[in-house]
Amino acid sequence: MIVAVDGYSSTGKSTVAKLIAARLGLTYIDTGAMYRAVTLEALRRGLIDGEGRIDEEGLRGCLGEVRVGFRYNEERGQSETCLNGETVEEEIRGMRVADRVSGVAALGFVREFLVGQQREMARSGDVIMDGRDIGSVVFPEAEVKFFMTASPEVRAERRYRELLAKGTEVSYEEVKANVEKRDYIDSHREVGPLRRTEDAVVVDNSDMTVEEVVEMMVGIIRERTGRRGEKEGGRV
Ligand code: C5P
Repeated sequence: MIVAVDGYSSTGKSTVAKLIAARLGLTYIDTGAMYRAVTLEALRRGLIDGEGRIDEEGLRGCLGEVRVGFRYNEERGQSETCLNGETVEEEIRGMRVADRVSGVAALGFVREFLVGQQREMARSGDVIMDGRDIGSVVFPEAEVKFFMTASPEVRAERRYRELLAKGTEVSYEEVKANVEKRDYIDSHREVGPLRRTEDAVVVDNSDMTVEEVVEMMVGIIRERTGRRGEKEGGRV
């Protein structure tokens, strides 16, 4: 079973997808983390200049050596993103990567590389995957599709608080500009642009709590798939 969760930046996709995964016994896959990890690798190799220009040939040439994956951290009780075996969870969430990721994610060969891995990851079980093109490109046949949205102010505010809590020095204006810029690039690129498919359920969570959103989405998944989930003694 595949549940696709697409939508704009900072709409809480990963927060709710993780909670739904735990409730229903699904594997959660954060595809944004994969694009962020490739961006970090490009930055480390000096393949993106100060203006954001990407050395496409250089990146294409080294993609074969880039391994992106997830590892469960027992202590923290959460899965973390790995780049060539190194945990990069903290580093990929910072502004340095956030500023450049949409440029990297707009490159067709990068998307092809990661979409192939995402399809592979879902082969062995039931997954909930969040991103921008899951319902439209990666799994057009997904059983349930959601499209998450919220007002730009609410999204920027949430992201700003999240970064502050992590101790990142950043201004609200900077965060808002980044969220808006990423949404623009993600929606206007040629390959796998962010768009709502007709069969996706729109979830505008501007005025909803996380619990309300999860409850609503779990209800829809159950209705459409009959899945009960771990806690109710259903199949996991
Ligand atoms: O979901 P998150 O905000 O971490 O994603 C970071 C960036 O990765 C997005 O702004 C987008 O440019 C890119 N992305 C993508 N396709 C996906 C997931 C993320 O292009 N499926």
